[in-house]
Amino acid sequence: MEALTETLVSSALYVVATPIGNLADISLRALHILEGVDQIAAEDTRHSSRLLNHYGIQSSLISLHEHNEQVRTEELINCLAQGQNVALISDAGTPLISDPGYGLVQRVAAAGYRVIPIPGACAVVTALSAAGLPTDAFTFVGFSPSKAGARKRFFESHAGRQETWVFYESPRRLVASLENLLDAVGTDRQVTIARELTKMHETLLRGELGELVDNLRADPGQCRGEIVVLVNGLPAMEVAALDDDADRLLKLLLAELPVTRAAQIVAHYRDLPRRQVYQRALTLQE
Ligand code: SAM
Repeated sequence: MEALTETLVSSALYVVATPIGNLADISLRALHILEGVDQIAAEDTRHSSRLLNHYGIQSSLISLHEHNEQVRTEELINCLAQGQNVALISDAGTPLISDPGYGLVQRVAAAGYRVIPIPGACAVVTALSAAGLPTDAFTFVGFSPSKAGARKRFFESHAGRQETWVFYESPRRLVASLENLLDAVGTDRQVTIARELTKMHETLLRGELGELVDNLRADPGQCRGEIVVLVNGLPAMEVAALDDDADRLLKLLLAELPVTRAAQIVAHYRDLPRRQVYQRALTLQE
């Protein structure tokens, strides 16, 4: 049981993953570290107290969230300077993955202290492992934007990806976002919606986007809880398929302009996904 006898490093920041639902999804090593550190910095101390109490961990707990991260970072740097060790946890899963902590980790590393990751649950990776979509390459694109215009552009900008892409979604926006996604990628794209992973109502809905949207409209109960959406990449053949006019215009512009600018103009002029035109432009250049 090497994990339970590990001696903690002084003046180190441990970045510790916690469960995304099921409290049993925490490693022995994570528990050992959380028990042994001088300070635990948590996104929401009340929320994390439930986990820590469940495992009988009594280390001192302070808050670190987006509104106090700068001030707290300096306080924690002082703790490290005095030889203490600190753990960072978030409300769920891996800190820094759509969660606070980037500023702290950057500052601690820049100050020359060790940053030690303690791996564990993360909703993106958990969803990918069961989605049934290719995992040889994937891109995590964070949360979709809350404002309608930005959200539409967000989906258009990712529509031409050839690898699986994954985003976090709020239950309130799920249907609206999937409608934007449908406008950008079409009805027949394979999508998986992973909901309430590791919890009682865990559900993975797999299928063509058009069907999934129809089903969700008919059964709003399927939109509740925490949600990860995974989108199959565009098949390579489709990337090449711009219509003749768009293709001709793209070739003309490529003779005069950089790839990104030429693709931007064609995408805008012909109302096509920018990424798709960009991929085609790269192929033409080759
Ligand atoms: N740091 C976390 C991680 O490692 O996945 C993510 C934190 S982010 C603020 C919260 C979002 O992650 C949720 O809105 C949801 O999109 C996703 N998420 C977290 N837990 C989940 C779960 N059990 N099932 C599905 N999605 C989850």
